Amino acid sequence: MNANEILKEYFGYDFFREGQESVINAIMEGRDVLAVMPTGAGKSICYQVPALMLPGVTVVVSPLISLMQDQVKALNEAGIHAAYINSSLSDRQISMALEAAANGRYKIVYVAPERLESGEFIRFATCADISMVTVDEAHCISQWGQDFRPSYLKIIDFINQLKKRPILSTFTATATEEVKNDIACILKLSDPHIVVTGFDRENLYYQVEHIRRKDDFIVSYIEKHPNDSGIIYCATRKNVDTLYELLFKRGVPVTKYHAGLGQDIRKKNQDDFIYDRTPVIIATNAFGMGIDKSNVRYVIHYNMPQSMENYYQEAGRGGRDGEPSQCILLFSPQDVMINKFLLEQKDFSEVEPEDIDLIRQRDARRLQVMEGYCRTTGCLRNYILRYFGEKTGVPCEHCGNCDREYREVDMTSEAKTVINCIFEAKGRYGQNIVIGILLGANRARLKEINAEAYQTYGALKEKSEAEIRLLISQMVLEGYIFRRRIATAY
Ligand code: ADP
Ligand code: ZN
Repeated sequence: MNANEILKEYFGYDFFREGQESVINAIMEGRDVLAVMPTGAGKSICYQVPALMLPGVTVVVSPLISLMQDQVKALNEAGIHAAYINSSLSDRQISMALEAAANGRYKIVYVAPERLESGEFIRFATCADISMVTVDEAHCISQWGQDFRPSYLKIIDFINQLKKRPILSTFTATATEEVKNDIACILKLSDPHIVVTGFDRENLYYQVEHIRRKDDFIVSYIEKHPNDSGIIYCATRKNVDTLYELLFKRGVPVTKYHAGLGQDIRKKNQDDFIYDRTPVIIATNAFGMGIDKSNVRYVIHYNMPQSMENYYQEAGRGGRDGEPSQCILLFSPQDVMINKFLLEQKDFSEVEPEDIDLIRQRDARRLQVMEGYCRTTGCLRNYILRYFGEKTGVPCEHCGNCDREYREVDMTSEAKTVINCIFEAKGRYGQNIVIGILLGANRARLKEINAEAYQTYGALKEKSEAEIRLLISQMVLEGYIFRRRIATAY
């Protein structure tokens, strides 16, 4: 079967997505691959399809046990022989699986990186026919990445022990130049075919809201979208718990997830969410790796995350089915403080002391860029794409900032009239009376102050009250006029 037939036969898809075919072709030509594809782009297909076409077995190094289990389950259901080897199995189960693997029973074997050092696994690997080693979440190999895992450094030792050098295919969702170089150098990729697919997810609508009353926003958002599945990310466990209580009491079908909950509860809550028993989940960033729920309609960030990498990945869990989804970030300046605090608490026990400063600097820089996203008035989509190294053109016209863009109108003459009115009134009256005068309104209070005698009475009568109000608040914002507190009215 060729790649297209396998895609159809085993996975049920008619077409490859962007990038997939070129990765598969390179692998089938025997080349190493480094693929940077955003979450949800479909990385798994890129190594699963060739795994079925290559003669021997493909070993997939993957950091997450839950992810491996889900993948293997899905493969088995599709009729593909696959297995995983990790700490969730007993020694006996591992021996049995390895024996079956050595006999060529499986086309794909998932393995946790720690396992690559075990004698038993190495014995299997040295006698098996391994066609390809795939490294998933390959950025974990880099100290400059977000989730450095020392055990990833063992991968190359493992490969060196094999009789025959297999094809190496490496995948990650986010990689800066440094991380890409690290992946290629540390794993000694030989002239790799590098694929970076677009980071633009057109169906995602990005939006930033500067608000204090975040709870109110979330409650009303959920009320307006009662049938939708969504994820709400909070910075801390405490936030998760409080927001969960609030929504639960209001009868929202909601569940929660953070590292403070027992493993069984986490698993149950996660499943409740995935299978839509509770379509809304409140979670810390501990939630989501490897989650493949296609119908998530919104991802709301209750707090600003620590980096664009985090944000893009978490927000990217929305709309995997390609349908419109909203990614809303609720920003308050406090979020910056919370994150600075969380970064100070970061665990550096596995990092070389001389690197700590550098990592701290990079973290601080990432946080700054993230804050920039929250504060920019420009196109949010372009901000994201630029950060991930893509060239951007005109504003997207499909994000909170693009839609919010105000039309520029010359209001100099109206602004002068407002100032004249305030001058005539000698600054004695509040905004409502000033607006009333400008509109030429017929109100008792205006008669009382003899407003009709003002030159500016009715000077802006062709405008609406809302327009004048907006004009005045803009003038205050830009410092042309200021509001004075009146101690006692009368
Ligand atoms: P990633 O690992 O890049 O985050 P996955 O491999 O989990 O993404 O794929 C994301 C989703 O896209 C999955 O539901 C997968 O089945 C689906 N998918 C992948 N490739 C295709 C394709 N060619 N056509 C349709 N759906 C696809
Ligand atoms: Zn935009």
